[in-house]
Amino acid sequence: MTGPVIGSITGSMTRSASGRHLCDPVLEGLGVGHGFAERGAQVPDYTVFPHQIHGVGVVRGEALRAGAPSEADAIVSTTPGVAIGIVTADCVPILVASADGGCVAAIHAGWRGLAAGVIEAGIEAMGQRVGGLRAAVGPAARGCCYEVDEPVAAALARRYEGLLAGVLVPGRPGRHQLDLPALAARVLARIGVGSDRIGAAACLCTICTPGPRFESFRRDGPASGRLRHFIEPAPAADGRTPEG
Ligand SMILES: [Zn+2]
Repeated sequence: MTGPVIGSITGSMTRSASGRHLCDPVLEGLGVGHGFAERGAQVPDYTVFPHQIHGVGVVRGEALRAGAPSEADAIVSTTPGVAIGIVTADCVPILVASADGGCVAAIHAGWRGLAAGVIEAGIEAMGQRVGGLRAAVGPAARGCCYEVDEPVAAALARRYEGLLAGVLVPGRPGRHQLDLPALAARVLARIGVGSDRIGAAACLCTICTPGPRFESFRRDGPASGRLRHFIEPAPAADGRTPEG
């Protein structure tokens, strides 16, 4: 099992030491271990995961570790050593960190979660000044491949009517092409995360990226695997106490 890895600061996407996780420059340099998974990537063995239900619930990693109910689609940690993770196979993974790296969140956002407000819920639960946050959007189903029907388009339009131009595009009759990570980035910007603090270096299409490098439910159906993404708070600075 590999430990947490922090890529070098290069100004572009870097691969972790395992070669299986993608790091984002907006999070590098904060001291937060993090990674967006390629197929088969392993997370640190102390990572905790919620039981995802495509809702807007948020759970704290510390509470999960203590046995709290685990149904949630966003998870927050402020404790170094409590790495938090989410799993995806076409939905958008979003990894967020506070300005000092001491508070982190992982958010799982498919179209249902987006339409219900899971990104807003996860950001709010961090309790941080939104303008100081850094957020990276990971590999997910993009507009090149992801076709949705009218009910999905209508659900998204109810919440994000002004954000959909260019990310929800009419396709075949009764269908639309949806760029999930691009919409997630717009939602983050609307909440107040600075556009220069929103990373999309790992924003590759899970369905068509050759290899295939990613797991995709749309491509492979129920037999598809899951990508396991993670983030953990930076080591404690003065005034913050690591878990004993
Ligand atoms: Zn594609």
